[in-house]
Amino acid sequence: MNLKIPATFEQRPYAAKHFAAIVSHVRDYHPFYRRWLADAGEVPIMDRQTFMAHNDEILNGHEVTCTTSGSSGHKVRVHQSAERVSLHQKDGAMFARWLGGYLPVTILVNPSSSGEGQSNFDIRMPLDEQLQLIQRRYRELGAVALTTYPGNAEILARTILEQGWDMSHIQRLGLYGESYEEHQAVYIRQAFPAAKIWTTYSSMEFGYISLMCPHQPSFQHLMAHRLGVEILDENDQPCPDGVRGRVVITDYFNRRCPFIRYDIGDFAVRGDCPCGKIALPALSQVQGRVMGSLIHRSGEYLNAFRVLMAIRDLPGVRRYQVVQEALESFVIKIECEDGVDADALNLKARALLALQDFLAYAPDEMRVDFVEEIPCGENGKYQYSICQVKK
Ligand SMILES: [Zn+2]
Repeated sequence: MNLKIPATFEQRPYAAKHFAAIVSHVRDYHPFYRRWLADAGEVPIMDRQTFMAHNDEILNGHEVTCTTSGSSGHKVRVHQSAERVSLHQKDGAMFARWLGGYLPVTILVNPSSSGEGQSNFDIRMPLDEQLQLIQRRYRELGAVALTTYPGNAEILARTILEQGWDMSHIQRLGLYGESYEEHQAVYIRQAFPAAKIWTTYSSMEFGYISLMCPHQPSFQHLMAHRLGVEILDENDQPCPDGVRGRVVITDYFNRRCPFIRYDIGDFAVRGDCPCGKIALPALSQVQGRVMGSLIHRSGEYLNAFRVLMAIRDLPGVRRYQVVQEALESFVIKIECEDGVDADALNLKARALLALQDFLAYAPDEMRVDFVEEIPCGENGKYQYSICQVKK
């Protein structure tokens, strides 16, 4: 059968060749994809829900090596071979070279998704402890780099500015895992005045998807040697440069747990990086998830990460959002999965308990709104938490 190469790859011989190779391989050797692609000249796009519905078949007996922290209560389970992981690590080493080499680092991330590492620390520790840790590791180990999520960097930055910490020793600040927003940059640049900031776009399914261009930081170069990345409109046609579309990715090298035209649920804009130094195609914008901060009644900033993860993990929750309307007033919005009986699952009480547990007190007003759909913000990004309190 003739395979139709997606339009994005038609004029790109490397992409066309590798796309055809992985599709032909899984058609021959992978039981699920043999069925999924049986009649299709054109390879269908697979969204996350469909992938999860067939996750066991797609894993095809291989062990789970990582899981996503997706926006639904469910997680995508992934297998990556050691060879596939080493390709991702090579890209990490390439990125370190782009930035000027490795520096001693303190990494503050979600422990369940980051793996083991001597420089890795649990993002859920209180802000004061995080700041003390950063200082101590600088004094004892010369750690002049810091890596964390943008939402955490923002509340660290706000606390640093309020309490007058000196973070001028931080030379490099890495932000990944979420979108990095302009309103966050305002605080982060002031709090870490000497830091060069880097960002990447990555996921558990694929590792690095794109890396910030070291010459033109507003562009991200795609890992096109490993991944076929399409940016598609609502008719599944390629978006021209400058137009926002869905991110659909094919992994050329994961033959055991294949991802073929997988709609990852993010949006991005393609653009030609003007650096002229890196031959990889580029994105001019990535629109992923936005995690923010909430404010404790004491006035302290709280990283919303922990309460968001607790609500995400409740059964039947598809999407969720925590809005702090005033210092003592919280709304938890929940979009349930189809056919879910929220009363039977006692979702309301469990969500409120998760919030109280996170705050360690019961705010004066808190409620749960079950909604049909939680819309994206004006900029097309999905905000998991919104704080409307002005300090
Ligand atoms: Zn560039």
